Amino acid sequence: MIFMIKPLIVNITILLSLTFNANLFFPFRDRFMLTTKQQIVYGLFAAFAAVLCMFYPIETLGDTHFDFRMLVILIVTLYIGWLAGGICTAVVVVGRILIGGSFVWIGVLVSVVSFVIALLFRPFYRKAENRWGYALIIVLLYFVFYFTVIIHTVFFLKWEFYSIYFVMFLLTYIIIVFLIERLVVYNRQFDEMVYMDKLAMVSEMAASFAHEIRNPITTVRGFIQLLQKDAGDKQLEQFAPLILEELDRANKIITDYLKLAKPADFCLRSIHLNKVLYDCINLLRPLGAFSNVSIEWKVRGNYSVWGDEQYLKQSFLNIIKNAIEAIDKSGTVTITAESLPQQQAVKVVIEDNGKGMTDEELKKIGLPYYTTKTKGTGLGSMIANRLIREMGGTVHYTSRLGKGTRVEITLPLMK
Ligand code: ADP
Ligand code: MG
Repeated sequence: MIFMIKPLIVNITILLSLTFNANLFFPFRDRFMLTTKQQIVYGLFAAFAAVLCMFYPIETLGDTHFDFRMLVILIVTLYIGWLAGGICTAVVVVGRILIGGSFVWIGVLVSVVSFVIALLFRPFYRKAENRWGYALIIVLLYFVFYFTVIIHTVFFLKWEFYSIYFVMFLLTYIIIVFLIERLVVYNRQFDEMVYMDKLAMVSEMAASFAHEIRNPITTVRGFIQLLQKDAGDKQLEQFAPLILEELDRANKIITDYLKLAKPADFCLRSIHLNKVLYDCINLLRPLGAFSNVSIEWKVRGNYSVWGDEQYLKQSFLNIIKNAIEAIDKSGTVTITAESLPQQQAVKVVIEDNGKGMTDEELKKIGLPYYTTKTKGTGLGSMIANRLIREMGGTVHYTSRLGKGTRVEITLPLMK
């Protein structure tokens, strides 16, 4: 069986190096939401990997062809989707037909079936909290099929060969799934780091500006009060309260902004999520009615989450307001909440069927001062993001241009 080692190592090296390279050019993200163009690129990349594997078959006894092309099809279909998987499968099928021999149709069949199995399981795989279970079920199911086909057609190879081939197939598959899952986590941590850096810069700037502006306001306020009493000027006496009021308002705006950019007096305790959501929806109903948007609330159960009520409300208001503003003519904003028992958290989903965002826009959301609205500040989603993170939660956006946007917020359950 020594002769198998070289092609095995070549196949595994091809797959590992291409996985890393793919991540270098198109960093793997959580729940890969990709444009058609990106899916095609991934599909071609995977097809390249599969073709390389076919160039270095592990065994070609008779006219058979054993290599890891099916592994590529399984992985790319599971992670990227039907389009990329389909492209890869099509290229593999054409390649196998070109190689020819009496086992062509068996080769084509086992490739297509790997695509079909991955496609059937993909919805469960993507949603699964524990992906390993599904990853193993998928590959073992495929093995059962593959083995049945082989037993009935390619019976002349040694048992040792089959055992080594299948064990190595399984190991490589596990390694690649592990790699992709790890890379997704690393990429997310990296994004988070960059984002936190930007946030820190903005809050620092905001804090220093606010401080600089508050000082002269306090001085002006003092002198106005002084003049109001002593100057004896009728007009000044009349307008002084108004000036003071406006100054106080400016001061309050700055204080609020400071608070949001750098939440200081966080008061974390157990709060009723339903009450917070109820308040927010009631506050925004008039705005919704004005823009022909109905707000639907589907909450199963009564949840107590760990957080600051005022700040949580502020975050929900910002996100729901964005959802309402994304709807042009008329539409619906749906708000749901459900528990995630495994993570000890509650997931709140705010979904709209508004104009949605492109991938480029999606990347910028939550960045300070990013806005597409004429009267927007570009601070709403940043503040919401920041506050929710501060409470130990997460915010995740997905969007389809022209279809709508989905914001998933997780909040830790009461401790
Ligand atoms: P602002 O609302 O002041 O523009 P935000 O930080 O709240 O600032 O939002 C930034 C941008 O993100 C918005 O201008 C909008 O383009 C986009 N956005 C946010 N939420 C949605 C949504 N639900 N649907 C579509 N676009 C959105
Ligand atoms: Mg906003």
